[in-house]
Amino acid sequence: MGIKPTQFIWRNGKLISWKDATLHVMSHVVHYGSSVFEGLRAYDTPQGPTIFRLDDHLRRLMDSAKIYRMDHGRSISELRDACHAVIWENRLTNAYIRPLMFFGEGALGLNPLGKCQVECFVAAFEWAPYLGAEGLENGIDVCVSSWNRTTSASIPVLSKAGGHYLNAQLIVTEAQRHGYVEGISVGADGTISEGSGENLFLVRDGIIYTPPLASSILSGITRDTVCRIAEQLEIRVIEQKLPREMLYIADEVFFTGTAAEVTPIRSVDQLPVGDRKPGPITKRIQQEFFGLFNGTTEDRYGWLDRVESKQQQVHLS
Ligand code: PMP
Repeated sequence: MGIKPTQFIWRNGKLISWKDATLHVMSHVVHYGSSVFEGLRAYDTPQGPTIFRLDDHLRRLMDSAKIYRMDHGRSISELRDACHAVIWENRLTNAYIRPLMFFGEGALGLNPLGKCQVECFVAAFEWAPYLGAEGLENGIDVCVSSWNRTTSASIPVLSKAGGHYLNAQLIVTEAQRHGYVEGISVGADGTISEGSGENLFLVRDGIIYTPPLASSILSGITRDTVCRIAEQLEIRVIEQKLPREMLYIADEVFFTGTAAEVTPIRSVDQLPVGDRKPGPITKRIQQEFFGLFNGTTEDRYGWLDRVESKQQQVHLS
């Protein structure tokens, strides 16, 4: 899945050209994964290009940086303008936005605090459905990973930090090596956690279940969106620790994430989920979710942030 370059990337307050958005090999982040980042989507709605839950994503970015004591000096309003600028100036409509902050050059000791400068970038580019358009429609085949999810005893899982994604890479590469699209991890206690880059929901007897934050999950913004949609639809959602075998007896299972959106799961460890087709609750949630972007679902929480020109000065280095 290659990335199609756009014209501009935002770096430390300025738009620069895509090819100039580079860093030095001796940057702290390259060696130790000391970055925090976000992933957002912009959709081409009837009102024009719109970023979904922009402030919620930026708040999580700030939280991620705070947990790692990363002193970046960036404000939410500056980053909000940066996200708008990379969509507007690159003439994008449907796109994925990647804000990223990391410890750059300065020192190679493990402690970067006060020694390495913090760099901030925001890029945007076109990106197809993460788990495939066909997967969105018909569901995907997944497995339970042999790798446990890292727990907050050793890694602050609520921070969306670069280094954490080594665990995620082990989970997804193992799954794909064995012919699955994605892997589901369990925590150290054997209960279900999440996908390598998605939160997990299952349905049994008309009730939706999802693991709580204490199950070593990222506090997903799509997860929250789905919980609110379910509330509107008067479908009960229970957050609780879930034993692995619930995956094998669920009527429906689906992933959520900015990249994955709402992706049905049709088999787990080669056992069919329901009749191997997206179930009625999954389809109803998908319909409400995508309805936010085609105008058929009311934006009752003010989640849609219309992209406008902020008269950004384009500085090319
Ligand atoms: N879990 C992990 C580990 C993730 O990387 C992501 C993607 N950000 C998610 C869950 C889903 O979160 P969101 O809905 O906010 O994209």
